[in-house]
Amino acid sequence: MTARPVTTYTERPWLALYRDGTTAHITPEHETMLDLFRATVSRSPDAVALRYFDGTLTFADLDARSDALAVALAEHGFAAGDRLAIYTQNNPAFVVGLLAAWKAGGAAVAINPMNKARELTYLLADSGATALLCLKELYAAVARDVIAGGEVRVQTVFTCSPLDEQDRDDQRLFAGAARTGAVEGTLDLARVFTEYAGRSPEPVSPRGEDVAVLTYTSGTTGVPKGAMNTHANMAFNSQTYRDWMGLGPDDAVLGVAPLFHITGLIGHVGIALLAGCPLVLAHRFEPHVVMDAIREHRPTFTVGSITVFISLSGLEGSTREDWSSFRMLYSGGAPIAPAVTDQFQEKTGLYIHNIYGLTETNSPSHAVPLGVKAPVDPTSGALSVGVPVFDTVVRILDEDGKEAPVGEIGEIVTAGPQVVPGYWQKPEATEQSLPGGELRTGDVGFMDERGWFFLVDRKKDMINAAGYKVWPREVEDVLYGHPAVREVAVVGVPDEYRGESVKAYVSLKPGVSATEQELIDYARDQMAAYKYPRSIEFLDELPKTTTGKILRRELRAPTA
Ligand code: AMP
Repeated sequence: MTARPVTTYTERPWLALYRDGTTAHITPEHETMLDLFRATVSRSPDAVALRYFDGTLTFADLDARSDALAVALAEHGFAAGDRLAIYTQNNPAFVVGLLAAWKAGGAAVAINPMNKARELTYLLADSGATALLCLKELYAAVARDVIAGGEVRVQTVFTCSPLDEQDRDDQRLFAGAARTGAVEGTLDLARVFTEYAGRSPEPVSPRGEDVAVLTYTSGTTGVPKGAMNTHANMAFNSQTYRDWMGLGPDDAVLGVAPLFHITGLIGHVGIALLAGCPLVLAHRFEPHVVMDAIREHRPTFTVGSITVFISLSGLEGSTREDWSSFRMLYSGGAPIAPAVTDQFQEKTGLYIHNIYGLTETNSPSHAVPLGVKAPVDPTSGALSVGVPVFDTVVRILDEDGKEAPVGEIGEIVTAGPQVVPGYWQKPEATEQSLPGGELRTGDVGFMDERGWFFLVDRKKDMINAAGYKVWPREVEDVLYGHPAVREVAVVGVPDEYRGESVKAYVSLKPGVSATEQELIDYARDQMAAYKYPRSIEFLDELPKTTTGKILRRELRAPTA
């Protein structure tokens, strides 16, 4: 793959922001994720690849297990170009499944384990997956009936247990989980590892442009679309993480983002496979359990949504010492209020670097350079999402599709080696979102004169109050400054007079109180009259996606 020349902003002063004056160009070391993994296996087979509670897998173990699964897949009819759907939590099986799909000449389909029958049916049918790897409990509760329903093409099912690869039977986490024993109609993954031990699949050599993983995104509109994350896309951005953050074999990555999401796939799995360092997995995100993993495994790096950092640092009994193994933290996937990073740093001593991207950009298109504190826009109060990562060309387009001048707000449009070529079997959606290979992100933002990028909001989340445009993000950032506010989401609600008016949903920190009027007054003191919230509703918890994004959508149209 030849890197695209960086044309748009090369002359801009932001290049000076890069560490050590590094240029914006990197030469990809690996064309595919399989090359990347094989290089690490041959370099350091005995290095630890995964830590899962008290279980440890080396790179050689991962290689052997994924060989075994790839042979089993092939023996059950899985051929080049086929898809293996993976429907598990953050378990070792997820990583083995990815590698096995590639070794068997196919691609993986990453499925959110929270998905229910309707969603699973759609994803399996749309991707055309012929094999499925899933947790036993998800098979029994969801997948078995979906497959029996006849709308999907799945022929072979492998099941695994959250207790696989560990000795400890932690009942807090896995109450009722069965360790062994095949589930009728499926192949038990642990048995596959023993039965096929020592066998190797027919050698395959995927190409950079081949799809490595289909990740489903709702995008801005309509049904979920399978973003075609190619091997070259994923290998490039795994390297982006490594080089941007200086990660190496002495690091340890804490897996707090779900592996089915692009942040987990690249910022956890990709980077660990490339750098040859351990990835710490903890099944699903339970703050106490993850804190135990931090204390036990002493990770040096993680990337996750800001809600992850809020909940971990807010845990009772957590101390500054808990965080002392970390060299750096990054947070992406959702807006970050500057007040939150300040509070976090005060508590832990660590600065959270912002990182921004989409499923379609294979995780980052922008990041804050390591060790640099991102500026806050004085007008909107937004924290910068950083500068474009290597070889990435970003344009801001105004409503007429023309490039907006520095400082002007418009849609962020991104091109680079990490941008997907399109959506699986959806040429129209591809043409709409990726015309000419450039991604229309649907995010609205601007670049300042130094080259820092700021996100204003999602295009579709803008509130129109009597013609005044209010970006919910700005109101949220202000409310986060109030000492009682834990989390906040701002939406537009119908208003007879204004068309829409601003409403905030707030959850409070434990043990503190605040009234609706107090919060309204607090916001009114700090912002233009058309922006401050007219009403506040208190909730114990705000609705969130499994990736930690607060679901404004659900608050706008509460389900009855
Ligand atoms: P996804 O495809 O699930 O990764 O979601 C991508 C969307 O998450 C982007 O289009 C943004 O709206 C949002 N997002 C990602 N990173 C950030 C960030 N650092 N700050 C604000 N929003 C973000």
